Amino acid sequence: MLQDKDRIFTNLYGMHDRTLAGAKARGHWDGTDKLIQRGRDSIVETMKASGLRGRGGAGFPTGLKWSFMPKESDGRPSYLVVNADESEPGTCKDREIMRNDPHTLIEGCLIASFAMNAHVSYIYIRGEYIREREALQAAIDECYDNGLLGKNAAGSGWDFDLYLAHGAGAYICGEETALLESLEGKKGMPRMKPPFPAGAGLYGCPTTVNNVESIAVVPTILRRGADWFAGFGRPNNAGTKLFAISGHVNNPCVVEEEMSIPFDELIDRHCGGIRGGWDNLKAVIPGGSSVPCLPGEVMRKDAIMDFDWLREQRSGLGTAAVIVMDNSTDIIKAIWRLSKFYKHESCGQCTPCREGTGWMMRVMDRLVKGEAEVEEIDMLLDVTKQVEGHTICALGDAAAWPIQGLIRHFRDEIEDRIRHKRGGAIAAE
Ligand code: SF4
Repeated sequence: MLQDKDRIFTNLYGMHDRTLAGAKARGHWDGTDKLIQRGRDSIVETMKASGLRGRGGAGFPTGLKWSFMPKESDGRPSYLVVNADESEPGTCKDREIMRNDPHTLIEGCLIASFAMNAHVSYIYIRGEYIREREALQAAIDECYDNGLLGKNAAGSGWDFDLYLAHGAGAYICGEETALLESLEGKKGMPRMKPPFPAGAGLYGCPTTVNNVESIAVVPTILRRGADWFAGFGRPNNAGTKLFAISGHVNNPCVVEEEMSIPFDELIDRHCGGIRGGWDNLKAVIPGGSSVPCLPGEVMRKDAIMDFDWLREQRSGLGTAAVIVMDNSTDIIKAIWRLSKFYKHESCGQCTPCREGTGWMMRVMDRLVKGEAEVEEIDMLLDVTKQVEGHTICALGDAAAWPIQGLIRHFRDEIEDRIRHKRGGAIAAE
């Protein structure tokens, strides 16, 4: 269990002063100039050694990503762009950082930008996060007023400007290249890769896009050392992590915990247990709506909340947004709702996604009512495979995986509903 002394986010619940004075009192902005003066290579190496993997869902090693940025400029500027578009259903962790502990993120932006040779960084925040935007902007203004941003930021010798840009509510703008398009003032549509953003990103310049949490943990990792951070969690799954637990638990919450925490410990310690007790657990979506659900039996015993264990179960940690469903849940309808969401949010640029998401949703429509043939279950599964991996961006996968999880673990329930409906129809004849 993570002890209070090891928490990076000490004002996650907004119980303390979130202004600069409060942040400083909790240890932020302490010797930032010295951290920067360690030099670019040293910072990147520390991040690599810490084992930090991106907190936005994909889990790509953060230090490695930074090392893809050009060391010397070819005349083009470099940019750090922070993805604060947090729109994945169930995910609500970055908002707590932005509204209650914004200085962790701002200090992280300065250090990370320095490490990537960027004098300018943008935070792209989702349009619906109005209070979060206000809190973050107030914190940025405070930093400018106190010399922590701007020329010779924090006395480090590095000139650095930080801008906050807000989206208009499209989920797809959380995809990094769609985000860059939107930031450039265009329609938020994902770009083909390559080129990757590190080669040609924002305005065609080298760019790294990182999640809010990934950047906000940087200053503390540098202060306390890579070994300290790497000491939490199993190998390859290092660090502390914000978990956002929603659904049928007694006390839904966002909490910072040690990576690789057992699922039952996470739920019992922080959420007051499953509603109605552990026997009432039906299914869990462990990492935000796009990862496949896992049945209660799998999650009840020895489940480990980290990238590798959940991948072994053919699901994923994703954003660590844990959606808990008890036996009162109509799981077919729950997954149908996600299908509807992805269909709505598809940008329509590529055919498998544009057509496939609508097609999948319409079959799911009928499965919810039991108005389908049993053979259509395999047909639906086949369509998910044709969408998966055949699209420009990961939204196609995100639409396919929840359905695959449903069919993998709850096929009986789908078939029962169809048979029940048919039996009812025959009885009525
Ligand atoms: Fe757009 Fe979907 Fe293609 Fe992504 S996968 S680019 S959201 S159509």
